Amino acid sequence: MKDILLKHFGIETIEIKKLVGYENVNYMVKTHAAKYVFKTYNFDEQLFDLVKAESNVLAHLVQQAKQLFPKPIKCLDGEFVNVIDINGQKTIIRLLTFLEGQFFAEAKQTHLLFSSFGKFLANMDLRFLNLKNYTIQSRQFKWDLQYAHLNKQLVNEIEDPGNRKIVEYFLLQYDEQVRSKIAKLRKSIIHNDPNDCNVLVNHGEVSGIIDFGDLVYSPLINELAVGITYAIMGKNDPVSWAQIIVRSYHKILPLQTMEVDLLYYLIAARLCITVCNSAYHKKLNPENKYISISEKPAWDLLHQWLMINPIYLKNQFREACNLSVDVKDKIESKIETRHQFIDPIVSLSYRNPIYMQRAAFQYMYDGYGNTFLDAYNNIPHVGHSHPKVVEAGQRQMAILNTNTRYVYDLLNEYAERLLDHFPPGLNKVYFVNSGSAASDLAIRLARHHTRRQSIMVMEHGYHGHTNSAIEISDYKFNNKNGPGQKAFILKVPIPDTYRGTYSNEFAGQNYAVEAIELMKEFGDPMAAFISEPVVGCGGQVPLAPGYLTHLYPAVRAQGGVCISDEVQTGFGRLGQHFWGFEKQEVIPDIVIVGKPMGNGHPMGAVVTTQEIANSFGHGVEFFSSFGGNPVSCAIGLAVLDVLEEEGLQQNALDVGDHYMSLMNDLKKDFNSIDDIRGSGLFLGFEIIDEDGKQNTQLAARIKNELRNRHILIGTDGPYDNVLKSKPPLCFSKRDAEKVVENIYEILKG
Ligand code: PMP
Repeated sequence: MKDILLKHFGIETIEIKKLVGYENVNYMVKTHAAKYVFKTYNFDEQLFDLVKAESNVLAHLVQQAKQLFPKPIKCLDGEFVNVIDINGQKTIIRLLTFLEGQFFAEAKQTHLLFSSFGKFLANMDLRFLNLKNYTIQSRQFKWDLQYAHLNKQLVNEIEDPGNRKIVEYFLLQYDEQVRSKIAKLRKSIIHNDPNDCNVLVNHGEVSGIIDFGDLVYSPLINELAVGITYAIMGKNDPVSWAQIIVRSYHKILPLQTMEVDLLYYLIAARLCITVCNSAYHKKLNPENKYISISEKPAWDLLHQWLMINPIYLKNQFREACNLSVDVKDKIESKIETRHQFIDPIVSLSYRNPIYMQRAAFQYMYDGYGNTFLDAYNNIPHVGHSHPKVVEAGQRQMAILNTNTRYVYDLLNEYAERLLDHFPPGLNKVYFVNSGSAASDLAIRLARHHTRRQSIMVMEHGYHGHTNSAIEISDYKFNNKNGPGQKAFILKVPIPDTYRGTYSNEFAGQNYAVEAIELMKEFGDPMAAFISEPVVGCGGQVPLAPGYLTHLYPAVRAQGGVCISDEVQTGFGRLGQHFWGFEKQEVIPDIVIVGKPMGNGHPMGAVVTTQEIANSFGHGVEFFSSFGGNPVSCAIGLAVLDVLEEEGLQQNALDVGDHYMSLMNDLKKDFNSIDDIRGSGLFLGFEIIDEDGKQNTQLAARIKNELRNRHILIGTDGPYDNVLKSKPPLCFSKRDAEKVVENIYEILKG
C-alpha cells in the first residue's frame, strides 16, 4: 500500500490502518504532514464512473467550505480516480483528506448537537442545490428513497414474519402516500447517507460529514428524512429529537408543507430499507458486523413508529417549521353532519365518540393525532390494514371481479383451503357477504333439509340483523324495543356456569337435559338448534363443558340439525381451537362464519354436509351477487396465509393466557372484578358491585376511561357489565399488560 501511495499520489506514508466499511476497503493513511483516507474498490465500470462523479461533487463542495467535507486528492496523473492492479485484482483507487472528529453516534446527544445537525445538513444541501452531475442524476439505487420499492425483493430475507409484515406495511404506505407525489417534489443532488457514523462532531456540534458513496439525485426532503432516521434511533422520545433537526434545517433551507408532510412515511421507508439490507447482507456476509450495525435500533424504531399517529407527526413537524397545522373540524360538527343523513339508531361507541382516520395492526389513529391500542375489534383479525390482505385485494381488483356464474380458480382454491380447516364431513360451502346473510342462509338450509319450521335458540344469542336472523336472536327479539319471540322459536337457558343454575362438572349435561325437556314440551319438532360456542352478547359466556355433546344427539334424534355460529369465535381466535365447536368436542351439521374471514372485507359463508347440500340443491337456485367473488376469495386466502405464517392462533393462546392471568392477579386487589372468562383472545371480565350484582355503571366508566386513555375495549352482556376484549390476533403480551395496567389505575383512582 505504501508503495502504491508513493507511486500514484507521491506521498510518504508513516502509518496505515484498515478501516471498517460497508462494501469497499478503506485505509487511514498518515504522513508527516497530514492524514488521509485511501479508498479501494474492486473494479466495476459503473462504479468507476460513480466514484469519479463523487470526486467531482466533493471537489465542488470543498471549494466552498474546506473543513466540512473530505477533499479529493489528485493522483500524479491529474485524475481524482485511478485504476490499478493490486495483487492481480483490477482496483479503483482514490485518496481523500481525513476529517477529524467524533462520530455523531458516539457524541453526547444534546439539543445543541441536534440543532447543529439540522443546520449542517441544510447548509450542505444549499451547496448541492444548483449542482448538476449526469452520472448521479441517472443513478438508480436501492438506498435512494425514491426507489424504496426496489427493496421489496429483499423483504423475504427478513425471517420473523411479525417483523416482515411491518416492513411490508410501511413499503405499502410508501407506495400509497409518497410515490404519486415524487414528481411534484423539488429534486437535488443529496448526500443521502448522513447517518450517525458518517457525521462528525467537534465541541458538541456537527463539524463535518464523510462517505459520499450514496450520492443521488432525489427529492431534497429525502436528505432530511435519512438524517433524522439515524439520529433518532434508540431515543425514548424520537419525535422531539426529530423536531429539533427539522426546526434548524428549516431556518436555513425553508421546507415546503408537502415535503414536511411526507417525513413520517419517508423515515419509515428508510428504516425498511435498512432492515431489508441488513437481513440480506447478514446472510451473504455473516462476519461483517458493520453491515448490521443499525439493525436492532432500526427495528425498535419501526415498532415505535407504528405507535405514532401520522397526523400527530405531521403536525409536530409543521409546528417546528411554523407552518400551519392540520386542524380537523371538531367531532361534534362531524356527528351533526352524520346525523343529517344517518339516523342515530346506527349508534356510536363511547361517550366521547372517535373520529377515526387510519389503522395499522393493533393500532388505530384518530383525526386529532391520537393513537389507540385496539383491544376490541375482532374483525381486523390478522391486524388492521395488514399489507398481505390489502395487496391481495388491490391486485385482484385490478384483474377480475365477477360472480360465481363464471368459473375462476380463486373460488375453487379458497373453498378448498377453507374446507381444509373443517372436519371431513363438512365439505360444502356457500359464500355470502355477512354473518347475517350466513345465518339467514343456514336457517334456509336447515328448513329445506328437515322440512320443518321451528328453531331452538340460545338465551342472549345473536346471529345478525336480517329479519330471519332477528327471529333467532334473543338479544334482538327480546330487546325492550324488539319484535318479541315468534311462535316457532324455542329459547333455551344459557348454560352459564358462573351465574346460572348449574356450576359443577355436570353443569353442561344438566343444562342439556333441561333443553331436551323444553324441546319435548315444545311439541313441534325442531328444524335446527343454533348457538354460538361462546355467547358474545350474553357477556362472553362459554357454553358449559359437555353441553353440546349431550344436546346435539338429542336434536338430531328428533330430526333437527345443529348449527354453530362461529362468526365471532372462528379462525383461531379461541387459541386452542380453530373453531369454537371443537372445544365442545362436537361436529355441527352447519357452520356459519363471517367477520374475521376477510379481515374487514365483507365476507361470510355457510359450511355444511353433502347431505344437507343435496336437499338444498332441490330447491331454487342459490345465487349471491358478491358472495365468493374473486376479490373476496383472494382476500380470504391472504387471511388464511397470514394466520399460518404469523402463527396467530398460537399467539392468541399465549397472549390470551397471559392476559387472563394478569386479570386474575388484578382481581385479587379489586372486589369489583369478578369472573374472568373466555379463551384465547376472546375474553370477558365481569364487573360487579359490593353485593355481587352486575355493575353496569362501573363497567361503562372503565370502558370510557380506557377510551380516554386511548385503549379500546367494549362492554356487553344482558346488564352490559362485562368488559369485552377481542383484539386483532397480533395483540402482544405487552399490549395486554398495558390494558391491565390502565384498568388498575382507573380502579385505584
Ligand atoms: N353472528 C354473530 C355471533 C355475530 O356476532 C354477528 C355480528 N356481531 C353476526 C352473526 C352477524 O354478522 P354481520 O354483522 O356480519 O351481519
